[in-house]
Amino acid sequence: MADCVVSIAEFRAGNFRRVSFEVASEARKVADALNLPLYGIAVGCGVGEKAVELGYYGVDKVFVADDAALENYVPELYVPVVASLIEQWQPAAVFLPASVDGKDLSARLAARLQTGLAQDCIQVVCDGGVIKAKRPIFAGKCLAWCEWADGALPMISCRPNVMDCQAADATRQAQVEKVPVDLPEARSQALGVELDTTGKVELTEAEIIVSGGRGMKAAENFAILEQLAKELGAAVGASRAAVDAGWRPHSDQVGQTGKVVNPNLYIAVGISGAIQHLAGMGSSKYIVAVNKDPEAPIFTKADYGIVEDLFKFIPAFTEEVRKMKSTC
Ligand SMILES: Cc1cc2nc3c(=O)[nH]c(=O)nc-3n(C[C@H](O)[C@H](O)[C@H](O)COP(=O)(O)OP(=O)(O)OC[C@H]3O[C@@H](n4cnc5c(N)ncnc54)[C@H](O)[C@@H]3O)c2cc1C
Repeated sequence: MADCVVSIAEFRAGNFRRVSFEVASEARKVADALNLPLYGIAVGCGVGEKAVELGYYGVDKVFVADDAALENYVPELYVPVVASLIEQWQPAAVFLPASVDGKDLSARLAARLQTGLAQDCIQVVCDGGVIKAKRPIFAGKCLAWCEWADGALPMISCRPNVMDCQAADATRQAQVEKVPVDLPEARSQALGVELDTTGKVELTEAEIIVSGGRGMKAAENFAILEQLAKELGAAVGASRAAVDAGWRPHSDQVGQTGKVVNPNLYIAVGISGAIQHLAGMGSSKYIVAVNKDPEAPIFTKADYGIVEDLFKFIPAFTEEVRKMKSTC
């Protein structure tokens, strides 16, 4: 008999990542459908002070593993800490972020707990007590519904920026319990983390992304996308062709071998729309494509298409945005 639903948060550089709140909101819906309490797990260094924030998004009780050794994600340390908590309960489901670290953690946890993982899910339903999760497969060409066999624990990682995040309710207080941290000796350690201090919006959390492809023709031409992004408060992404050409860092790459993004608005500039690129941005809410070739495959995916030379269109569009903003 299940006694809870579990939501695992991701804590980095002194704050919960937004996807933690999306995951808690989604897990809350399932907990409500099953009439169960929602337990949160928060692991990190200094995470205890922030644990109450998970309550704002529906977590009833937060179990906190707070230790200096847990400042960075080290699988050998995180997995036993999280698994030992889950093993004490009989969860109906475990939710966690499908971030880079979350995907790693969820796969290891699923193996350790001998259960099935639905990775990178974009929808979860709980129908008559049965949990089902939808996830893209074959680089986004198909969508698969996953169900678990009787007795198996559904483990579900949620793609960032897709699930609805409920509004924070600061009056909602979660109970916070610190758990003793008994860490094994790890064979690996995180020596440090290099944080991007440029103030750039992180691609996976951006509401708007302006991405450039081979059509940009040179690294310096990305300046026009940077200007547009600045006006829109957007992040700048790139296709693999632009990254392979050395015009942008790999951290900007969107796609199958880059980042999976889900902004409200994705503007693809000089990008043809190869399946591997679509795998990374196909679930964006609105897609605008700027391409001089009317036959470019990106137009089959775009909500709005502009057939034009990008070097004419982007500066003119940026100017219009600037004018609109000055009159608002
Ligand atoms: C295993 C594997 C993994 C991959 N992973 C990724 C990935 O993660 N991300 C990714 O992006 N790709 C990935 N690729 C590569 C992918 O197949 C494509 O090669 C790549 O996406 C093409 O990038 P592009 O659209 O920028 O370039 P192109 O396909 O060359 O398209 C450039 C476009 O720019 C347009 N254009 C040119 N000049 C102008 C102009 N002046 N104005 C307007 N439009 C113009 C052209 O009409 C064209 O449509 C992967 C490939 C493989 C095999």
